[in-house]
Amino acid sequence: MIDIRDVHKRFGRVEVLKGVSFSVTAGEVVCLIGPSGSGKSTILRCINGLETYEGGDISVLGQRVNSRHKSINDLRRQIGMVFQRFNLFPHRSVLENVMEGPIHVNGEPRAQAEKRAKSLLALVGLADKINAWPGQLSGGQQQRVAIARTLALQPKAILFDEPTSALDPELVGEVLQVMRTLAREGMTMIVVTHEMQFAREVADRVCFLHSGQIVEQGPAQQILLQPQEARTQDFLRRVL
Ligand code: ADP
Ligand code: MG
Repeated sequence: MIDIRDVHKRFGRVEVLKGVSFSVTAGEVVCLIGPSGSGKSTILRCINGLETYEGGDISVLGQRVNSRHKSINDLRRQIGMVFQRFNLFPHRSVLENVMEGPIHVNGEPRAQAEKRAKSLLALVGLADKINAWPGQLSGGQQQRVAIARTLALQPKAILFDEPTSALDPELVGEVLQVMRTLAREGMTMIVVTHEMQFAREVADRVCFLHSGQIVEQGPAQQILLQPQEARTQDFLRRVL
């Protein structure tokens, strides 16, 4: 579904991706781990066409991605993204936040968008908050609304960029629980996270990124419990 081959990316003179390759098949959950500044967000942004890249190839559903590409808006519709900061519309209700994309981006009839928004809000455990304002919700609840909003566009895959890093520790679990549910239902996901327990339980594969290169990738249990490379071992010692 997503194929990343030898991708090189520089910001000015600094090469931040130095030949990154991995692929994700339909229904797979891949966790991307690695120290701050290693290029994790940049990879997600390249996959979603938010950044250009200079070398290599990224294809999504058989279509080559480059942000100069005309069909980039189609692509963005197929790949959802959930960020650390949720950026809900503060002056719209929770329900309206989730209906917004389907109506204005996809041109869906209002009644249909509302029906799906309600069922997605139930899925993320917020059926009783549909008329609340984002500001009345906790960070964990807001992030769950953001996930429902992403799902409302019916993406084929979702990229998560540290979805729980901005949350108070006691709110992390409820968001991870929603992500577990999505994984179980077969959603294709790439998750940048520092939640190693989550990665161990949910990821099919883990890629460890360091200084713009994938140092090690493989089945979650193998990478997290028996890493072969010194840099992976060192990183895991520090985060676990
Ligand atoms: P991570 O998400 O793993 O913390 P990033 O992908 O955000 O890492 O960043 C990788 C490197 O690219 C870092 O050195 C960062 O400073 C640099 N970088 C990211 N975005 C930009 C930008 N827009 N302009 C210049 N440098 C950037
Ligand atoms: Mg990042």
